[in-house]
This record gives sequence, structure tokens and C-alpha cells, in this order.
Amino acid sequence: MRKIQNFSYHNHTNFSDGKRSLEEMVAQAKKIGFCEMGVSDHMIIHKNIEQSPSWDMLHSRYAAAVYRNDFKSCLSDFQKHCEHIRQVSKKENFKLYVGFEVDFFTYNGWLEELKEFLTQLDYDYLVSGNHFMPNENGETIINIDCIKGRTDTVKNLSEYIVNHFDAMKKSAESGLYSFLAHIDYIRKLGDDISGPQKFVENKSEVLNALKKNNIGIEISTKGLRKIGDFFPCSEILDEIAKLGIKTVISDDAHNIDELGEDFDKAEDELKKHNITQRLKF
Ligand SMILES: [Zn+2]
Ligand SMILES: [Zn+2]
Repeated sequence: MRKIQNFSYHNHTNFSDGKRSLEEMVAQAKKIGFCEMGVSDHMIIHKNIEQSPSWDMLHSRYAAAVYRNDFKSCLSDFQKHCEHIRQVSKKENFKLYVGFEVDFFTYNGWLEELKEFLTQLDYDYLVSGNHFMPNENGETIINIDCIKGRTDTVKNLSEYIVNHFDAMKKSAESGLYSFLAHIDYIRKLGDDISGPQKFVENKSEVLNALKKNNIGIEISTKGLRKIGDFFPCSEILDEIAKLGIKTVISDDAHNIDELGEDFDKAEDELKKHNITQRLKF
């Protein structure tokens, strides 16, 4: 029988912006025959997030609890969440890893604060998931989803995009992450602005940093739901194969029916691109 990856390390519960409880996600994982699962709710902590140009839209679209502006005040929420995952794992007799999808920010002091924060959490791994574009010093951030269709409101957009890739590169160099999520999330802004033929050098730099630091990358079936193609695009997958970067299939599930969705198609895509190095904990 054909072998299809039977676990997911990138998905969300209602601790962040997922629609279902951890218990519901675990029940579904068991139902579809997963051998284990890593839960990676968002950790998005930026001191100026409420001053970001996209804040009003962020606020109306998602649970406000996803976005935090201060490490100290949310520590106990994150601690309780970690504990909850451990408890459910034990109760359900199902292997769960405690992960977080962390937006990497670049302003002075952020990384030190994150590291200090992490020492107080009982977690297993981090996914580098970047949904914002920072300005030069990282103090101002713009959410990519929120400027879809309104990119003309951003002056120096290409500089923001370059900074976005630079943040990913820095995340690879930080040594904190297991793998990088949706490297070409920016395609959401449209191929004319940020498609496969754009910012090629910047993407290569990110891939080289992953390779150098032995960090993995995901191929996400969420892209099929959002832009009709995998994250990453075919061109990047070729480069991943060439560099031999460890790859994991992700669903980025925010609901139970998205868990393991289209993993067969992702296996085909990896095969097509001769990607053989796979990531498993
Ligand atoms: Zn994400
Ligand atoms: Zn995600």
C-alpha cells in the first residue's frame, strides 16, 4: 500500500484561531489514523501590535486573544495551554507534541524576551510562521492578509516584502525553530506583486539559511485551499530538493475536516520534485 504521512505538526485549536477544541482535534486525528500529532497554536507577541496599520482589520477578523502585545501578561495562558496538551495526551493515550507557530519579529530586544519567555514553557518545538511584514527596525508591522486587495495603501511595499523574507532568514539563524511554514505566504498578495518569479533571491537566501542551520520546511496543503496551489510553489520545491532540506507535510488545519487533508496530493508533489529528505520528530 502507498505510504502517506500520517501525522501533522502544524494545526490550530481554539486556543488561538482554530475552530475546534484540542479534544475534538485529537478525536479526529485518531479517527483518520494519525500515529501522533503536534499542536502548534499561534504565538504572536509584538509590543506595537495594536499600533500596527492593520490592527483594526485584525481585530475584527479574528479572536483578539491571538494577538498579544506583552510577554509577561500572557505567560500563564501559554503555560496552562502546554499543561492542557500534556494532560489530554495522557488521558487519550495519544502522542501529542506541544508546539507553537511563532511569528518572528525583529525589533531590538524581541528575541531576548522570547527566549526568556520560552524558558518558562514546557514545549517541544516551534514552527516559524510569518504573517506580517516589518519595517526596517521591526517596530511597525503590517499583516499580509489584511492588505490583500489594498496593497496600494502601503508605501515602499517591496521593501516590506524584502524585510518579511529577512525575518524568516533571521528565524532560521536563531536556532529556535524546527521548521519553516508557508515560505511564500506572500503570494496571497497576487502573482503580479509577489508570485513565483518575484523576490527569487530573497527566497533563496531563506532556503540557504534553513539548510545551513539544519531547519526543516513544510509543504502545506493549506495553499490548495487558499490560493489553489501548495505553499511553496513548484520553483521553490525544486530548490528544496536540490539543497536537500528536510520537508514535512502540513495541513495547517483550523478545523477537523482539514486535518490530513490532501496529504496524498502532497506526497505526489514531493515525489514529482524528488524530495526525499523528510522531517519526523
Ligand atoms: Zn501560518
Ligand atoms: Zn498555522
